[in-house]
Amino acid sequence: WIQFDVINNVVFGGAGFLGSHLIDNLMMRGENVLCIDNLSSGNLKNISHLKNNNRFLFYNHDILDPLESNVLIEKIWHLACPASPHIYQNDPLKTIRVNYEGTLNVLNLAKDHNSKILFTSSSEIYGETKNNPQYEKMPITLSTFSPRACYSEGKRIAETLINSFSKSSNLDVKIARVFNTYGPRLDFNDGRVIGNFIKQCSINEKLTIYGDGSQTRSFCYVSDLVEGLINLMNSNYCYPINLGNDQEISILELANLIKSKFNSRLNFKFCDLPSDDPECRKPSLEKSRNVLNWDPKISLSEGLNKTIRSYLEII
Ligand code: UDP
Repeated sequence: WIQFDVINNVVFGGAGFLGSHLIDNLMMRGENVLCIDNLSSGNLKNISHLKNNNRFLFYNHDILDPLESNVLIEKIWHLACPASPHIYQNDPLKTIRVNYEGTLNVLNLAKDHNSKILFTSSSEIYGETKNNPQYEKMPITLSTFSPRACYSEGKRIAETLINSFSKSSNLDVKIARVFNTYGPRLDFNDGRVIGNFIKQCSINEKLTIYGDGSQTRSFCYVSDLVEGLINLMNSNYCYPINLGNDQEISILELANLIKSKFNSRLNFKFCDLPSDDPECRKPSLEKSRNVLNWDPKISLSEGLNKTIRSYLEII
């Protein structure tokens, strides 16, 4: 990256679903981007359209290895961690290390350059709760031994690490608690619900409902989420803040909605609910609306249309 006089953005996890959309937005603003990814859950296809752009560079690197740069870095976006329960539970130790050791490496890099840094935490840190919507300051009860703990506890320790590190090093840090996000480039093989339902409808397979489908989620279209991340990076806010969409829907309703987009009469296949599967997820957006002057714009129906269209184009 010696070709850059200054690096406007380093995006860890930039070849992933969310990271690649963030990069597109930053590039559209005329900034340059160094994308860092070890391609464990990211995919080169997500960034291949940027290959010949001289404001873009890709570096295949594992966040667990420290990184140095001779060129000044202005902003660091730390999105590096698999987000699908199916994938992050495959290698729980790696998930924990990425969030602790990886984040420490990113913080040290930020310290070297006095860069601003944004970390994507997760709604998972709210654990199983009757509090709906989930707001940033609510009390949190989490099991340290559950299958999801590697991720939820990983994100929690990363938040704590970032807070302590930033105080001792005087760093400008931002923490986004990201709720379920979807859109084009979603990995349709990573087991997450929207990808599964769209794929199942397109190949005429029964839609798999885990449990009775009464559990709820709130899905945010990716361009809205990216706008939220950028507003957060540009803000002076330094506490954890929710980003997502607060249109809540049960999984059964979601299945019916996606079926209707395909005019499908497919039946459901009811499967066991994975242990530890949260009953509800809905962000309180009070803080983000006030502090970031931001609001998600794309409805679930509209976002699903765009996602389905892009999926059908690819296959
Ligand atoms: N789910 C489902 N069928 C699927 C995949 C997921 O019913 O084929 C459910 C899952 O049990 C959870 C919700 O959909 O309650 C969202 O799952 P996902 O893995 O997308 O993300 P999570 O919010 O659980 O991290």
